[in-house]
Amino acid sequence: NSIMAKSSFEYVKNFELDDKLIPNTWIVVRLDGKCFHKFSDDHSFAKPNDLRGLKLMNFAAYSVMKDINDVLMAFGQSDEYSFVFKKNTNLYKRRASKLLTTLNSKFSASYVYYWNKYFTDEKLQYPPTFDGRVIMYPSDQNLIDYMKWRQADVHINNLYNTTFWNLVLKGNLSPMEAEKRLCGTVSADKNEILYSEFNINYNNEPAIFRRGTLLLRKVLQMDSQETASIITDVHDDMLKDKFWKDNSTLLLDKSKPLVFVEAPTTDMV
Ligand code: ATP
Ligand code: ATP
Ligand code: MG
Ligand code: MG
Ligand code: MG
Ligand code: MG
Ligand code: MG
Repeated sequence: NSIMAKSSFEYVKNFELDDKLIPNTWIVVRLDGKCFHKFSDDHSFAKPNDLRGLKLMNFAAYSVMKDINDVLMAFGQSDEYSFVFKKNTNLYKRRASKLLTTLNSKFSASYVYYWNKYFTDEKLQYPPTFDGRVIMYPSDQNLIDYMKWRQADVHINNLYNTTFWNLVLKGNLSPMEAEKRLCGTVSADKNEILYSEFNINYNNEPAIFRRGTLLLRKVLQMDSQETASIITDVHDDMLKDKFWKDNSTLLLDKSKPLVFVEAPTTDMV
């Protein structure tokens, strides 16, 4: 490359900051739709859960996983999606901005590109925006607790929203009255309102609404010796220890750990 002399402007490259993430930590990227309260109104989303919206989110996340092999699993609910990278990933040399921006742009572009696949009668009014952040978790337990935290969030929000919208749509309360009615109630109270007033057993609500969607990679054994790797969606209860027992291999990273420093040689000692 010696023919291409470096220009005198090249020094500005040194202003770029090193944003490599710490080795041997779990990398999580979470995306969230910007002002989706309004976006869902503008696109006539069914309340409290529009299945088309959830399926489009899932498909955009699937597109990300198909493209980025180092994403181990992903969890989505409402207008958010979390992506967990393989612990030892060396994609983009673990540079935070590269990982975050590439992933977000693939997700956002896919959301728009596949809009019509799910919203057949609803025109996309304007380009949606997703924000994103990168979080590192040093231990498996931290990562498990992260997954539990996001799924607990689905549970809390969905139980509230299901009760709220039943009070409004079937109970003929105004949104303000419904909000007042639910103020200070605990889970048991909301379950009771749903059951006694609307004949709804909350546990029979679709699992995708109650628990969100987990996208996992599974290896399938084919007829022959061959195996095929697929991405599958499940709606399991990650708050139960049983899930982590049944999926104990999930967090095992079979790829070689990255070596970042040379082991000291004997003559250095
Ligand atoms: P912010 O920009 O701060 O994220 P937001 O309006 O997106 O604001 P969130 O807390 O992210 O607020 O909540 C997302 C909102 O989007 C939900 O409260 C709900 O109103 C709406 N929403 C998202 N997905 C769906 C869906 N599948 N069906 C119905 N409503 C949805
Ligand atoms: P990377 O993923 O590393 O960025 P890249 O293939 O995108 O790889 P760049 O150095 O970003 O490489 O260069 C972008 C390339 O895209 C150009 O070299 C050119 O081949 C092509 N390209 C981009 N815009 C145009 C355009 N408007 N007309 C023709 N070619 C274009
Ligand atoms: Mg937000
Ligand atoms: Mg949002
Ligand atoms: Mg949100
Ligand atoms: Mg480039
Ligand atoms: Mg480029």
